[in-house]
Amino acid sequence: MNNEKKFKIIITDPVDAILLEKLREKDFSVDYYPKISEEDLLNIINQYNGIVVRSRTKVTKDLIDRGKELKFVARAGVGLDGIDLNSLQDRKISIIHAPEASTSSVAELTFALMLGSCRRLPELAAATKLGNFSKEVGTEISGKTFGLIGFGRIGYKVAEIARAFDMSILAYDVITNDRINKVSGQYVALDDLVQNSDFIGVFVTIKPGDKPILGKREFSLSRKKPGIINTSRAAAIDGPSLLEALKTGTTSFYASDVMWNEPPKTEWEHELLSLPQVIITPHIGAQTREAQARIAEATAARIIEMFGGVR
Ligand code: NAD
Repeated sequence: MNNEKKFKIIITDPVDAILLEKLREKDFSVDYYPKISEEDLLNIINQYNGIVVRSRTKVTKDLIDRGKELKFVARAGVGLDGIDLNSLQDRKISIIHAPEASTSSVAELTFALMLGSCRRLPELAAATKLGNFSKEVGTEISGKTFGLIGFGRIGYKVAEIARAFDMSILAYDVITNDRINKVSGQYVALDDLVQNSDFIGVFVTIKPGDKPILGKREFSLSRKKPGIINTSRAAAIDGPSLLEALKTGTTSFYASDVMWNEPPKTEWEHELLSLPQVIITPHIGAQTREAQARIAEATAARIIEMFGGVR
């Protein structure tokens, strides 16, 4: 087949090799530029019919306007917050993503962060390597109350695992789901969740312009000095108010996989990172071999299903 006539796809972030293999098997022309700069991408996007991104590449109005031949934008992952959905809709460009593929990996990381904070693992393990064999007292999660803000795919998976630790589940969400009964949980108002939880997990989706869900007022309500775990989006929390809550002790720890700026830019983000009761990982929720393979398979399958017969 003449290469010029092929349906051309550009992949602009690192993805599992399966994605490239599956698309090339179906005769798509695929260019893999996982480190391409924003400027270079803007200059060549008009040559492509589809683009596959992860969180590094922002799909802006400018990029979409210049992508005159674009038929789809695929996010090899879950969050669509880096994509200008209104511009896609205006141009009737399809959006593809793989929302379920990383759920277990993110839920597992949630417990790694939570247990790591409760037993101060990063700090004590680093000290042990330096020859300081100091035994510190931590806390258990078993039997405690876990308040989940956002009870979607990840929130539910986290609740299932939490039940194995004999935790009680409270959930706050803008929509309700019968699955709450499967984990013997209870929907409550946000204020009740904040007041009654030993641990608060944040598992919400965030759209551009959304206000933080946890801010100064909510932190001031907490009675149990909860530890907060956030593997969703940092914007769900007001950062400076969180910093204050950690410094005054109304919140006992913050363990997160996400930052307001990735990598962090502001002074208060750096101050937050420097606190001993804060653990932040570099957005690795979906960074397991299994999740990456599932994401690649699911993304390729959807592209092939929608555009495999177009050429
Ligand atoms: P989901 O859509 O299944 O669940 C999100 C839930 O949040 C929904 O039930 C929704 O009703 C609820 N929600 C939205 N806004 C809310 C609000 N203002 N107040 C209360 N509830 C609200 O999504 P998911 O697959 O469970 O993913 C959850 C989050 O995790 C997303 O933000 C996603 O981008 C993020 N995520 C992070 C990683 C990572 O690498 N750390 C990987 C995958 C997903």
